Amino acid sequence: MRKCVIIGAGPAGLNAALYLKRAGIDAVIIEKEIPGGEMLKTNKIENYLGFSEIDGGELALKMSKQVKDLGVKIIRDKVLKVSKKDKFIIEMEKDSLEADYVIVATGRTPRKLGLRGEEELTGKGISYCAVCDGAFYRGKEVAVIGGGDSALTEALYLADLCSKVYVIVRRDLRASDVLQNRVKSKENIVVLKNVNVSELRYDESLSDILLDDGKMLPVNGMFIAIGGSPELSFLDGVGIEMEKGYIKTNDRMETNIKGLYAVGDVRSKDFYQIITAASDGAIAALSIKEEG
Ligand code: NDP
Repeated sequence: MRKCVIIGAGPAGLNAALYLKRAGIDAVIIEKEIPGGEMLKTNKIENYLGFSEIDGGELALKMSKQVKDLGVKIIRDKVLKVSKKDKFIIEMEKDSLEADYVIVATGRTPRKLGLRGEEELTGKGISYCAVCDGAFYRGKEVAVIGGGDSALTEALYLADLCSKVYVIVRRDLRASDVLQNRVKSKENIVVLKNVNVSELRYDESLSDILLDDGKMLPVNGMFIAIGGSPELSFLDGVGIEMEKGYIKTNDRMETNIKGLYAVGDVRSKDFYQIITAASDGAIAALSIKEEG
């Protein structure tokens, strides 16, 4: 039986597994955290067909259950290296596997602002996930950095917990009109445009942030939502072709390495949505099926 190792259990990886298994191809997923990917950081999803509104964690659970129920094994481990001889060899922290095909579905990791203190304040005032950490800031003033869909989704979530939410946007908002209109209707969200955070003020934890227009905001929490980029050091040495920091694929999700596919947020494309990630996974699986 042909075997495929999928690295990453977000919607792209899970849907690839679903299609592979149904096509009679042995599929194994390796995931370093719990299955779900970025969905786990989202409280409300309203644009995944079939669910007019669903909690991100619940959708993640439904997807992973569906795949596990088909008999797909999800291994909890971190991939350190992928290499190719006759077959692919996938080395993990605790084990290693061989496969005929590899699908990379590792998404992207949050981008950092690069401010002094950002690293040491992570968990002490700085967060990259409102759903995970928002409750620590109940009744307090917080800031969200970024002007995309993620930043406004975070701000809306925090507005129900915190007394005031500043949204700091370096240029203008680029989030969808739906989200922008919702933000406008929240009295405790203040959007500040054409401004950057220049300094963090803190002792044990964050107390204020200084903006480059000279304003100081007394916030205890700062949520950074400025996009992300793929972390692909495990592919060093494979010779994979990249495009603007993302893996380059064709329409069948094939990379320049035969047998190696990339799906979801890790690949270079125009639209990064849960449904497009899931679609990428299906396409990769069907492409593999056709090869055999
Ligand atoms: P985006 O890349 O869309 O937005 C990033 C935001 O951060 C932009 O406002 C950008 O500013 C700003 N930014 C980037 N770097 C910096 C920096 N160094 N300092 C200050 N600001 C910075 O990322 P998102 O995570 O919001 O979204 C990623 C993708 O996921 C998008 O395709 C989005 O549509 C999708 N998504 C969809 C959701 C939904 O449909 N409900 C929810 C969440 C995400 P600038 O514009 O100036 O570059």
